[in-house]
Order: sequence, then structure tokens, then C-alpha cells
Amino acid sequence: MALPTPPREPARRHHYLGDILSTIHSTAKGMALTMRYLWRKPVTMDYPKEKPVIDQRYRGIHVLDQQLCIYCDLCAKACPVDCIEMDAVRHGKEIEWKAFTLDYQKCMFCELCVYPCPKDCFIQGTEYSMVSEDRNDFVHDLLTWKGLREEEPS
Ligand code: SF4
Ligand code: SF4
Repeated sequence: MALPTPPREPARRHHYLGDILSTIHSTAKGMALTMRYLWRKPVTMDYPKEKPVIDQRYRGIHVLDQQLCIYCDLCAKACPVDCIEMDAVRHGKEIEWKAFTLDYQKCMFCELCVYPCPKDCFIQGTEYSMVSEDRNDFVHDLLTWKGLREEEPS
């Protein structure tokens, strides 16, 4: 003989209806938000086809104006993590550059190396993209890197 089914508790039924109403309410709220943003211009961009506008004060990859540099080493001495290395030979007033590198595996983009430069020939540019699978590529050769100097204030 089958046992009689107990009557549904009123409190439980109330909870069940509340769940349905809550679901309808949150779905409607979500859809309203979706509809509000549906016709707006997207805030995301198709990088790298599109590039963001970078502020001139952005501290990106360093740029050296080798012609102005006097090989004083002040930038390297100011670096708290010793990631700048340079080597050159002086021939009177002429400087024969051998190397001027910056190790971006250590650099923290603090800009402390830029301030002591007496010739204002060492800046942080607006370039930020640096991608490689080889760690050695992050030891940046500043003698050949021209960066985005033309976009920088003189
Ligand atoms: S930005 Fe800072 S960490 Fe990087 S090279 Fe300059 S002083 Fe060193
Ligand atoms: S501080 Fe300026 S002038 Fe001196 S070595 Fe560095 S970049 Fe050259």
C-alpha cells in the first residue's frame, strides 16, 4: 500500500515562487544593462591592429641620443638594480661606443636613470611592446634602438 504524499508546506512554496521571481528580475536587469551598452562604441580595441594613444609622460622603453651622450655613467650609477651597462673608448673628444645596454629582465621602469643625465639624451619613450621567447632579447641594445624618439619632446 502506497504511503500518502504529505501536503506541500506553504513556506516552501513561497520560497520556490520567490526564486522564480528573483531569476526573472535578475535576467531582466542583466538584459537591460546589455541593451544599454549594445549601441555604444566599444571600449575595447583590436590590438595590435589598433594601438592605444599613449601619454607623453608614459615611462616606456628607453631611448638614447647617442650623439649627445658624454659617457659619464651617471644614468647607470643611478639605477637601483644595475641594469644599465656601457662601454666606450675615448679618443680625445670623440667617443667610440662599444656597448650601451639595458636589461629589461631587471628594469622596473622607475625613471631614476633619466633624471641625472646632464645632456637630457636619455629618456623613456612611449614604446611599450617588447615580446620575445628568448630572454637574451630583453638585454636591449640602446645604440641601435631608435624607438619612438620622433614622438618625444626634445
Ligand atoms: S628605469 Fe629604473 S630600473 Fe630601469 S634602468 Fe632606469 S633606473 Fe634602472
Ligand atoms: S647620464 Fe646621459 S650623458 Fe651620461 S652616460 Fe647616461 S645617457 Fe650618457
